[in-house]
Amino acid sequence: MKILFYDTKPYDKDTFEHELPKYPDVQIDYLKTDISPKTAPLARGYDGICAFVSSDLGTATLDVLHECGVKLILMRCAGFNNIDLETAAKYGMTILRVPGYSPEAVAEHAMALALAVNRHLHKSYIKVRENNFSLMGLMGFNFHQKTAGIIGTGKIGAAMARICHGFGMKVIAYDVYQNPSLDFVTYVSLDELLSSSDLISLHCPLMDSTYHMINKDTIEKMKDNVILINTSRGGLIKTDDLILGIRARKFFGVGLDVYEEETPNVFEDRSDEILEHSTTARLLSFPNVIITSHQGFFTEEALEAIAETTLSNAVSYEKGAPNEGNLVK
Ligand code: NAD
Repeated sequence: MKILFYDTKPYDKDTFEHELPKYPDVQIDYLKTDISPKTAPLARGYDGICAFVSSDLGTATLDVLHECGVKLILMRCAGFNNIDLETAAKYGMTILRVPGYSPEAVAEHAMALALAVNRHLHKSYIKVRENNFSLMGLMGFNFHQKTAGIIGTGKIGAAMARICHGFGMKVIAYDVYQNPSLDFVTYVSLDELLSSSDLISLHCPLMDSTYHMINKDTIEKMKDNVILINTSRGGLIKTDDLILGIRARKFFGVGLDVYEEETPNVFEDRSDEILEHSTTARLLSFPNVIITSHQGFFTEEALEAIAETTLSNAVSYEKGAPNEGNLVK
């Protein structure tokens, strides 16, 4: 079967080429360009296409894929909010994704951000390179015996809870469902979590009910000098309210792997550009904020798991029995 990959980065190609010998019936061609109504015609003659988290799989793109006879969409990621599911269903397209690849990859990045803002690693890295060995402005606080508040204790939140437990923190959590495997965690209300946590880490999905859950009101309920970490989705935090909170000296530090304006930036080199009207630029002006570019998932183990599952999804479709748990309906 022939698959056309869109939005391929060199690391995608390396990982998939490494796995491909195990799947002799699958042939892949790689495109650097992402999928859009203009580039979708290139998929003519292929059995399926493979796309990523920010690919445009809206109505117009799906119309073209349908005209080209493409029936299979392989998402090499967990998310699928970028696909027009109604149109895909109308055309009888099968969509397969990778629901979970390495929760630890994202959780470890969340803790990396928490440690970095706590111990000011972003500042000390620059200072020492310039022969400034002063400790002024670098004081942090021990995580040991402090309280970590985990919002959303699914796969990634549970991994983060285990990491915080390993640091000797008291771990409290808020979720609409309790995770029975986390016997060391105390579930509390959202308000109690906000008012008692020294470190708050967001791990719930972006949905109507969670959109802007971190806003002026919830920020006011937080402890002063809290560390806030978001590796989940930018829309969980109302950025303008976060900026007001940072200005009001509410936060010891803020670590963001995801943020509201990330779509035009993510995975792109825009270093020669001036980001006008950008709240991201405003966030970056604060000394206690670290932003990374949606790299929580980016470990060797996670990429290998993504390649394995995507290729096994392709083969399961070819055999007429698509992997049920990975189907997007
Ligand atoms: P999951 O489905 O295993 O867990 C999500 C948890 O959130 C569930 O326990 C669910 O009950 C809970 N939840 C749902 N609504 C809630 C609410 N209103 N309040 C509190 N909790 C609520 O998902 P996961 O695999 O742990 O992934 C979590 C999120 O991480 C994803 O939604 C995705 O946005 C993000 N993610 C980020 C990266 C990255 O590279 N930064 C990579 C993968 C996933």
